[in-house]
Amino acid sequence: MNIQKTLLIFLLWGVSFYSIAQSQQAIQQVVEQAYQEFKDVQEGKNADYIKELAKVDPSIFGIVMVDIDGNIYSAGDNFSQVSIQSVSKAFVLSLVLNESGPEVIKNKVGANATGFPFNSIIAMEINRESGINSMVNAGAIATTSLVNGATADDKWNAIVKKLSEFAGRPLEVDEPVYISEAGDNQRNVAQAQLLKAYDKIYFDADQSVDIYTRQCALSVHARDLAIMAATLASGGKNPITNSRVVSTEAVSYTLPVMATAGLYENSGKWLYQTGLPGKSGVGGALIAVVPGKFGIAVVSPPLDEAGNSVKGQLAINYIVEKLNLNPYLVESGN
Ligand code: GLN
Repeated sequence: MNIQKTLLIFLLWGVSFYSIAQSQQAIQQVVEQAYQEFKDVQEGKNADYIKELAKVDPSIFGIVMVDIDGNIYSAGDNFSQVSIQSVSKAFVLSLVLNESGPEVIKNKVGANATGFPFNSIIAMEINRESGINSMVNAGAIATTSLVNGATADDKWNAIVKKLSEFAGRPLEVDEPVYISEAGDNQRNVAQAQLLKAYDKIYFDADQSVDIYTRQCALSVHARDLAIMAATLASGGKNPITNSRVVSTEAVSYTLPVMATAGLYENSGKWLYQTGLPGKSGVGGALIAVVPGKFGIAVVSPPLDEAGNSVKGQLAINYIVEKLNLNPYLVESGN
């Protein structure tokens, strides 16, 4: 290779390195702007039907984005922990898909939107034949009951292990949250019994609810959630630890269910605005997945009427718009 060629290669390498650094800086700026824009929003209210959640500091606000190369962009409270709540449903679904394949979920749980709140019993009745989905409580309890393992401990250990692999660190249960929800869980217990009556639960009903309640009480912060979402964005490989967590196929069936029902009765509105699969939890977490690009997570406990983080929705909408992340926004070539 002559000297001119070598110099040219170095120059091109330098230019592309510079432009990557520029675009990373632009992403960080947008995340900071989103934080500034919405940090003083006062709308919404902590969940209080699980008494312990009412005590969580409502001013916690953190935004984290992780790209599929493992770069992290963040603003606000990266490390304030909340309980994962329903965001766990997406990851337990991907665990079951990874273990048992898509037909099991399609046939035993279902994948249709309900249009009803996350704990709706009417939705179970209406969808008795056609099936429900893994993002609402009844479908999530059925999904948890499908995790491989002969005993409740086996299933629970598989869930903690897999969700920890998604986060890239060992996750632990927030015991006061678990105890608080377990003591007040009549509605979920009733839903599990109804599933049993309909032959739609695949392990002991009460133990399935108990495992589900524990999975919802796992403690996470915005950075964990963004890494978990980025692992879905990268087709199942954790971009920080570089280890494969679930198969690409499992992710390809998880994301559509999130898009269908991740924000419950407001899932259509969310998809209309962002074009992205998302998942919320009543602890105040909200994640969105930009397939092949980013995981985005916000933690902010005050919720809207449907149980979705108010600031979470505002911040993610803002980021999606500023960075053109809606996958349906296609620039035509001519
Ligand atoms: N553990 C909560 C419940 O079952 C989860 C609900 C949620 O985050 N939407 O009610």
